[in-house]
Amino acid sequence: MARYTDAVCRQCRREGQKLFLKGDRCFTDKCGVVRRAYPPGQHGQGRKKNSEYGLQLREKMKTRRYYGVLESQFSKYFDMAANTKGVTGENLLRILESRMDNVVYRLGFAMSRPEARQLVGHGHFIVNGHKVDIPSYLVKAGDEVSLRLRSRSSEKIKASLEANASRVPPKWLTLDRDAMTAKVVALPDRDDIDLPVEEHLIVELYSK
Ligand code: SF4
Repeated sequence: MARYTDAVCRQCRREGQKLFLKGDRCFTDKCGVVRRAYPPGQHGQGRKKNSEYGLQLREKMKTRRYYGVLESQFSKYFDMAANTKGVTGENLLRILESRMDNVVYRLGFAMSRPEARQLVGHGHFIVNGHKVDIPSYLVKAGDEVSLRLRSRSSEKIKASLEANASRVPPKWLTLDRDAMTAKVVALPDRDDIDLPVEEHLIVELYSK
């Protein structure tokens, strides 16, 4: 467990910014990026500036790590984005945002995306009346996402909702806290996605 914890914060240190993978801890002085603001490893403090390719690679890795997506899945998302009408980079972020684990996180049911992934995997949510326990499930505009009745007494979920009470969900999602039900009003535009990602670098990387 301790080793896993270290590995998570190392990902943020590698990218040089907070990826918010650990919930509460990310907002405290115990955050790995706050305590050691340099890349991990023996030569972390003496690394050279990235080349153009290095910058593109880092942007992809950062995005993958934000959403907790493996390379093969990310590559599939890129293909989907490239084959969809519109701007490929924006399409890619829209697909990533549509993941069920991200939606659960955005709605405040979990303190981090990894925690949301676990909640979805444990079958706590239903979409349009059907149980969905696949974190990579992609929601669509008009979908209704609810917490299952038997999960409404979960202390963990209640604590997250309380801690996130002042956090307003992005405008493409609406949440009824009393009914523990949310609606996907529309899939997000780029302006609705607050991640500091330069998606054009990812497109350039895959276009090589
Ligand atoms: Fe660790 Fe969270 Fe800080 Fe990242 S943002 S280094 S996961 S505590």
